[in-house]
Amino acid sequence: MAAEAADVIVIGAGLAGLNAALNLEAAGLSVIVLEAADYVGGRTRTFDFPIGSINAGGQTIGPYYARLRDLVTKLAVPLIPAPRGLAMGNYVNGSLMSSADWPTSKANKTVGAERKVQPQALEFFYMSRGNNPLPDPESWSDATQAHYDIPLLAYLRSKGASDEAIRLIDVTVNAPDLSSASALAYLRDIKWLEWGMAQPDPNSQTTYGAGAGYHEIAGGTQRLPEAMARALKQEVRKKQLVRSIDVTDRGAEVTTHDGVRYQGKYVVSAVPFSALRYVDIRPNLAGQQLAAVQQSTHGNAIRVFMEFTAPFWEGDIGEPGLFSDTSIERVFANADEAGKPFALNCWLNGNGASRLDQLPPEAMSEFVVEELARIRPSTRGRVKVLKVHSWAKHSASGCCRHVYNAGQVIAWSEVMAKSHGRLHFAGEQTRSIESGMEAAATTGERAAYEIIERES
Ligand SMILES: Cc1cc2nc3c(=O)[nH]c(=O)nc-3n(C[C@H](O)[C@H](O)[C@H](O)COP(=O)(O)OP(=O)(O)OC[C@H]3O[C@@H](n4cnc5c(N)ncnc54)[C@H](O)[C@@H]3O)c2cc1C
Repeated sequence: MAAEAADVIVIGAGLAGLNAALNLEAAGLSVIVLEAADYVGGRTRTFDFPIGSINAGGQTIGPYYARLRDLVTKLAVPLIPAPRGLAMGNYVNGSLMSSADWPTSKANKTVGAERKVQPQALEFFYMSRGNNPLPDPESWSDATQAHYDIPLLAYLRSKGASDEAIRLIDVTVNAPDLSSASALAYLRDIKWLEWGMAQPDPNSQTTYGAGAGYHEIAGGTQRLPEAMARALKQEVRKKQLVRSIDVTDRGAEVTTHDGVRYQGKYVVSAVPFSALRYVDIRPNLAGQQLAAVQQSTHGNAIRVFMEFTAPFWEGDIGEPGLFSDTSIERVFANADEAGKPFALNCWLNGNGASRLDQLPPEAMSEFVVEELARIRPSTRGRVKVLKVHSWAKHSASGCCRHVYNAGQVIAWSEVMAKSHGRLHFAGEQTRSIESGMEAAATTGERAAYEIIERES
């Protein structure tokens, strides 16, 4: 079969790939976007349940998300204010308590100034403001900060965090574990988030912040990538799982798992390294860049979406969400625009998520409901699972996010996004200072301009 051709073949229809494609088309280049899944948006997937739409991935748009805000304006995608995080109670050391009772609870084994900080917010307490040594997010890759490219655990200890605070931070941290993740990359993320935050919100629904100036996309985040795909001249080719990329001096050929070929003058890989490592690249990458693609760490996240039949929280601690030090980690309440809870979602990340991922979805559902009923008896018989979504198991992206381990910022940050002949790289893992969805959009724009400059 003859190969289809375009100036640029973009692999991956997440925010990075779609933004690369929009920028390339705006510069007059023809583009074909290939996507493994049967939907566009990658890690900004929204599930539309009868009780309402719930985001499984990217959700909160910070005040400083310049590219995302530009895209929503241009594409007339409506935004709504992000609901302030609904209050979360705590289940720690065997005791269930409201957030108000936490500072004085006997179950609160944290020490000194930590005692007043909600378990959810300890991460920010030790890595933001005066506890964040970076003068600005840009300095993360500066040689002068290299001594922070150490395990988060060592960093937290150096700041005086108690063992109990460290144990609780391990629940919220968006990395497999504290002993391997780099403090430097984490400090960069928190420094960047601080820009948009007057005060860290102790009850923030996500690590991306909440409250004044934060927004979400009306009807679910996925509506944005869908609008981006509609704005492209050529329809995104879905169910096109790429198997190989052959790069020559004059162009590149991309082949899917079932043998369909696409040719371009250039290729943009906008897939996470957790997926790219299964694509044959010929000639192969080399040195530290190859090591980064093959060996970099990716944190998982599992979301267990649940509906409830009664406002169970009115019968116990009064707060629908729950932070816990158990295997189910955190249970958030999803609220409608009026702030009324309509669903729950259990959110596991890091090694806790990978551990539960070893259970089949039905066993995981049963476990989450039973464990929630054990630690919070008012939920017994009132909660039902709608869906289990593991980003590692149930998506072609294969992860929640890329994580630098200690030592890898210095070794890899400069080489990860370097073009390989006519193959260019985009995607959240190739970001510089931005985080999350803004990072993805920024890297797509950067990769597009690398090509546009070569063509001009
Ligand atoms: C649970 C969770 C919560 C989050 N919350 C927030 C938040 O509140 N705010 C925020 O800013 N960010 C948040 N993020 C992060 C944000 O969603 C991501 O950083 C961003 O969407 C990544 O976009 P991307 O284009 O780089 O990658 P992806 O969205 O992963 O896109 C890559 C695409 O490539 C496709 N693909 C993979 N392999 C192949 C292949 N071989 N062939 C063809 N296609 C392939 C995938 O199917 C996917 O569509 C969250 C993420 C998660 C998982």
